[in-house]
Amino acid sequence: LRVLICQGTGGLASGAQAVEDAFRAEFEKHGVEGKVGKRCTVVGTGCRGLCANDVLVDICIPGQEAVTYDFVKPELVTQIVEEHILKGEVVAKKKAGPYYNKFLEKQMRVVFSRCGTIDAESLDDFLAHEGFTGIKKAVKMKPQEVIDEVKKSGLRGRGGGGFPTGVKWGFCAASPGDDKYLICNADEGDPGAFMDRSILEGDPYGLIEGMMIAAYAIGCKNGYVYVRAEYPLAIQRLQKAIDVCYEKGFLGKDCMGLGFDFDLKIKAGAGAFVCGEETALMASIEGERGMPRPRPPFPAVRGLWTKPTNINNVETFANVSFIFYKGADWYSSIGTEGTKGTKIFALTGKIKHTGLVEVPAGITMREVIYDVCGGILNNRKFKAVQAGGPSGGCLPGEAIDAQVDYDSLIKAGAMMGSGGLVVMDETTCMVDIARFFLNFTRAESCGKCVPCRIGLKNMLDILERITEGHGREGDIELLEDMCVDIKKASLCGLGQTAPNPVLSTIRYFRDEYEAHIKDQR
Ligand code: SF4
Repeated sequence: LRVLICQGTGGLASGAQAVEDAFRAEFEKHGVEGKVGKRCTVVGTGCRGLCANDVLVDICIPGQEAVTYDFVKPELVTQIVEEHILKGEVVAKKKAGPYYNKFLEKQMRVVFSRCGTIDAESLDDFLAHEGFTGIKKAVKMKPQEVIDEVKKSGLRGRGGGGFPTGVKWGFCAASPGDDKYLICNADEGDPGAFMDRSILEGDPYGLIEGMMIAAYAIGCKNGYVYVRAEYPLAIQRLQKAIDVCYEKGFLGKDCMGLGFDFDLKIKAGAGAFVCGEETALMASIEGERGMPRPRPPFPAVRGLWTKPTNINNVETFANVSFIFYKGADWYSSIGTEGTKGTKIFALTGKIKHTGLVEVPAGITMREVIYDVCGGILNNRKFKAVQAGGPSGGCLPGEAIDAQVDYDSLIKAGAMMGSGGLVVMDETTCMVDIARFFLNFTRAESCGKCVPCRIGLKNMLDILERITEGHGREGDIELLEDMCVDIKKASLCGLGQTAPNPVLSTIRYFRDEYEAHIKDQR
């Protein structure tokens, strides 16, 4: 019998440790082991997505369907143990409602398949759930064949750019030299996005496996996981997993006896949003101030410590192990023509069930918002969704039937980004939203280049005067011009995309800008 307790950051913040302690105390008190004839194991798992309903607990009795309880407090544990575990009577009133099945119904949990199911800190549990199956298959191929398999799968980078992963690996593999680096970008900085944190907390060995496959394919002997320091639990679990892998000979010289060497370290970042940009991230690892550098040269040619370097984000590497475990054909059968596989989204804002969902690419925004996440809070009207983080765009109600894949979102005026979706209802002022996101990117600008440093500040001044009642005729046109110029002239992705929330809100909600300015006259 297994009692699975969600112990991601969300679960722990809601009291999961006290719930675990209560289960252990009850088992001690009742000597449950003898009574149910089976060993009761209390397992701390990663997040299973429905963060708003933490603490989530699954009671898994062999031969029976698992029963999920939500909003579990330590006071409820005695009842669950005495009625459900000892007498076989489910505590129906405390069971997660039908929405929990709906929440899972349209999801396809591939990357998250182990999050919420296994003991996140146990190598044995990972191995019992097909862990390291992918790397064992990969090393039977030649490195170039591994790269070709990733190309065949259609996997595109999940960090935001959507560049084909296999092609990227091929560039770095083709760069001359034996000294190459592999970096995992875990500097997840979009407000409201926490999918990478969840993978690190819930399946750290899965990430290590994906990186091992990439290291073997590209020929990298050294790797870094660059994690923001604001993720202490993720760092702790990943470090523990790395330490165990070294102890068991899975990392270091002749990894797992498979004939290649790979060393892996964690570098904790100090929380600058711009360090999610590849060149700034590498500068930070090198001990420099985290500021972007002009490209070319691209990291695949001249990256960390001037050596060829391949960088992918957490979700991308986490996909890789499943591509090799289940095959590229299986993977490419999921999703749309241009976007294969699944995508994880973090849903926040005016929505009933906030949290993390993993869905096949190509599902519509309506299905994600209404079918998976229960619709708009207080049954209000859906107004817009901000897709792609602070640099994404705001899509209006009419876009609710847009497919969530790279190409459809760009066509609609937003972007996939890392997968943040902020849902807004009819009470939201879209000019305020634009100001909020621009304030974020302006504060995070590193200041290296003028269009971003000064331009974003000037745009913010205009947005502030509009929202504070001092807007002027011509302000909307001025904002539009500045957006275009800043996008064109900025050095890195932060400046190039920061105007997107302003541009998209003007495009779809121009009347709100006009009304603000008109009301002021
Ligand atoms: Fe720094 Fe902004 Fe220039 Fe990027 S665009 S280098 S964040 S000032």
